[in-house]
Amino acid sequence: MTTIRSKLPQTGTTIFTVMSQLAGEHGAINLSQGFPDYPCPPALIEALHHAAQAGFNQYAPMAGLPALREAIARKLQQSRAVSVDPDNEITITAGATQAIFTAVAAVLHAGDEAIVIDPSYDSYAPAIAAQGAHAIRISAGLDGRIDWPAVADAVTPRTRMILINNPNNPSTGVFTAADLDALADIAEHHDLLVLADEVYEHLVYDGVEHHSVLAHPRLRQRSFAIYSFGKTFHATGWKIGYCVAPPTLSSEFRKIHQFLVFCVNAPAQHALVEVLRDPTHWQSLPAFFQSRRDRLAQGLQDAGFQLVPSRGTYFQLADYRSIRDDLDDVAFARWLTIERGVACIPVSVFHADARQQGLVRFCFAKQEATLDAAIARLK
Ligand code: PMP
Ligand code: GLN
Repeated sequence: MTTIRSKLPQTGTTIFTVMSQLAGEHGAINLSQGFPDYPCPPALIEALHHAAQAGFNQYAPMAGLPALREAIARKLQQSRAVSVDPDNEITITAGATQAIFTAVAAVLHAGDEAIVIDPSYDSYAPAIAAQGAHAIRISAGLDGRIDWPAVADAVTPRTRMILINNPNNPSTGVFTAADLDALADIAEHHDLLVLADEVYEHLVYDGVEHHSVLAHPRLRQRSFAIYSFGKTFHATGWKIGYCVAPPTLSSEFRKIHQFLVFCVNAPAQHALVEVLRDPTHWQSLPAFFQSRRDRLAQGLQDAGFQLVPSRGTYFQLADYRSIRDDLDDVAFARWLTIERGVACIPVSVFHADARQQGLVRFCFAKQEATLDAAIARLK
């Protein structure tokens, strides 16, 4: 029997699969893995149906349908006054996860280092490790504040990239303009690339503005900015997103992309061209989610949780220790799922430092009736 030297010896099955499976086995209301339980916009389904019927069922161009890349460029121009060349700077990917892996694989060599700011989305560190590179993980506060001097101190001659997630899953932190300036100073000073995971760009609350690396001229030149139509159009199962990066970075990105997937689902790309004509959809997202956030927050508070205010994403963090202080977060999430019928995600899994304890994450991208049923169980 051949022995395999694992490339990811520390990696198990992702927590999202583990908790959704447990929720299914125990009939729990699933507020763990982040996905909506309500339908995506009818116009999107209609457009997909038309695209498939019209015969768009063969390979799309490798970098993505030109019409979709043009629609994205128009959206960036209209919503952020950012100019992007659709031919050379946008690549359509099989979701943000593939875009993240592709960007990391395109630029990191074995032995390189990349700085990851915890809490961090669970695909970052394994994507880095799979290249034989090293994730240098720095903890940020759960108030979303990043200690930029600590980030600067973590840079070594081997550092090639800093990964950021804005808004952050799971801390819900949202960058200020000053955060982007601080990041730009470090990236410029050490000539680093930036991977900016901005999949929750439209899910920012209380009137706060989202600041993208694309609108920051110094970061724009050295960043891969990554987005997901799954988030923006309530369609996580479509697995379609995109990466925006300057031509030299996009060119390296596409070298990996073409041999990882070659191209992405053609009818879905045609359908997205249609729905991207109407900006009112994504403009309505903050109000749509903010009312759900507030509904869940009130219910969790009434059930005895202490909350970390949710500023972005569709997640709410809750401290459970006044309910059960005898369990670590993984045990609490299992207990809540199995014994109380509501599934959540333990937050320590987003940290390299396992001492981060006492918090679980709930998803509020759910029908109001689902949130109410979960709250009733928790109370
Ligand atoms: N980044 C973050 C921060 C996410 O929360 C997610 C998914 N929820 C992704 C990337 C992956 O997005 P996709 O489903 O488009 O691969
Ligand atoms: N990003 C989603 C979450 O945070 C899950 C995506 C996945 O299951 N890979 O819950």
